[in-house]
Amino acid sequence: MSRRTRGRQEWDVRASTLARNTTNTIRNVVENLVVEPNPQKEFIALSIGDPTTFGNLNPPEQVLEAIKESVETAKSRGYAPAKGHLEAREAVAEYSAHQGNVTANDVILSSGASHAIELAITALADSGQNILAPRPGFMIYQTLAEGLGITVKYYNLLPDEQWKVDIDDLESQIDEDTAAIVVINPSNPCGSVYDKDHLVEILDVASRNHVPIIADEIYEHFAFSGHKFHAISSLSKDVPILTCSGLTKRFLVPGWRMGWVIIHDRHNIFGKEIRKGLNNLATRILGPSVLVQLALPNILKYTPQSFFDDVILFIENQAKSAYEVLRRAPGLRPIMPQGAMYMMIGIQMSLFPTIKNEIQFVERLVKEQSVFCLPGKCFEYPNYMRIVLTVPEEYLREACQRIILFCKEHVDYGDKRKEIENDDVTVTNTIEVLSESDISVHP
Ligand SMILES: *Cc1c(COP(=O)(O)O)cnc(C)c1O
Repeated sequence: MSRRTRGRQEWDVRASTLARNTTNTIRNVVENLVVEPNPQKEFIALSIGDPTTFGNLNPPEQVLEAIKESVETAKSRGYAPAKGHLEAREAVAEYSAHQGNVTANDVILSSGASHAIELAITALADSGQNILAPRPGFMIYQTLAEGLGITVKYYNLLPDEQWKVDIDDLESQIDEDTAAIVVINPSNPCGSVYDKDHLVEILDVASRNHVPIIADEIYEHFAFSGHKFHAISSLSKDVPILTCSGLTKRFLVPGWRMGWVIIHDRHNIFGKEIRKGLNNLATRILGPSVLVQLALPNILKYTPQSFFDDVILFIENQAKSAYEVLRRAPGLRPIMPQGAMYMMIGIQMSLFPTIKNEIQFVERLVKEQSVFCLPGKCFEYPNYMRIVLTVPEEYLREACQRIILFCKEHVDYGDKRKEIENDDVTVTNTIEVLSESDISVHP
C-alpha cells in the first residue's frame, strides 16, 4: 500500500511570520546591554517597571481577602463568558464612572492592560494600516502591532513642555491608513499628566481627522498634588474611544493579569461592528482569569481611598527627592514628573566626551556604580534614561548619590567651562556639585 503523503518529504518546521516579526524593544535593548555591576557595590535596579519587585509596596488587605474568598468559591474554577462575568463587568463599569457613562455592556475583561491594548489594536487596525503612538512611549504597541503588519508611527512629545503632545506633529502623521491614535496618560515613561485643555486639543485633532483613540489609562488617578487626572473619554464630544486599564499598577498586582477595555461611543460611530469585533477577539483566549474576575467586585469596592493616597504620596515624595538631588548632577536634566511611577532624565552627552551615547552611559553606570537605569532607546528616545520611583526610599537615595558621583567623574566641560562660569546659576550648581558633602555614599 502506498504511503505517499501529500505532506512534506522532510522535517522543515518554521516559525510563523507573526512569531518572527514580534519583537520587544525593551527586551532586545536590555539583552544587548553589557550589565556587569561593580562587585564592590550592591546592585540597585532602577529599571524594573514592576512595583512589587522590592516588596515595599503591597496591595491592601481587602484585595488579598477578596482573592482568598474567590479561591473558596467553586464558580472561580469554571469558565466565564469570554468577555467576563456580568458581575465583574458591572463592577468595572461602576469603578470607571469617571470616564463617562459606562455600563457592563461597554466592558470587556482582558488578561492585563496589554491584552486590552491588543484587543483594541486588533479590533481597529488591519495589516497595512498604521497606528500613531507617542515618542517617548511604552513600547508594547510596537510589540503588538508590527508582527501583524500594522505599522506604528510615532508622534513627538515635548520634553520642555512637560511632555505634552506636539500637536502639529501628531496631526501631520495622520494619513488615510491611520486606524487609531494611542494616548498614554498619565505616561510611562514620562510621568506626565495632561490637563483638560491639552486633552481637548488632542481630541480636536482626532475629531477633525475622524480617527478613533486608544486611551492607555493604566495609570489613571496617578496624579501628584497640584495635578488632576482626567479620563480623555470624559471630555470627548464625538471621538469614539477604547480605554484600556486594569488592576496592575493601581492595585499593585501585575502578576494577576486583570485588565479591561471600555468602549466609549456616544455617537454610535463604532456601531455594532467594533463591539462585536471586540467580543469576537475576546474569545481567542476564552476570557481572563475567573479567579480574579470573581474577586473584582470586592477589590474595586472595598479598597480604601487611603491606600491609593498613600501610594501616590510615596511616589510623589520619591520623585521630589530624586529630582532635588539629580538636578544638581552635572550633565543631567531630570524632568519632574506629574504622576505615574517614573522619571525621565536627559543626559547632555556633549558633556561626557568619553561616553558615546546613552546606552554606554547606563552600561558604565552599572559597571562603576552598580546602578541600572533604562536607556532612552527602550522608548525610541536617545539621550535620556528612565528611572523607576517605586523602589525603596533608601535605594533611591543611594542610587541618586551614586549617579551624581558618576557624573562628576565623567563630566568634562572643556571649552564650555568658560560659558558656564559666566552663568551665575550654573556656577552655583557646579560648586554644589563639586563639594564632597553630597557624594557621601551610604551602605
Ligand atoms: C504596565 C503598562 C501596561 C501593561 O499593563 P499590564 O496590565 O501588566 O498588561 C500598559 N501600558 C502602560 C503604559 C504600562 O506602563
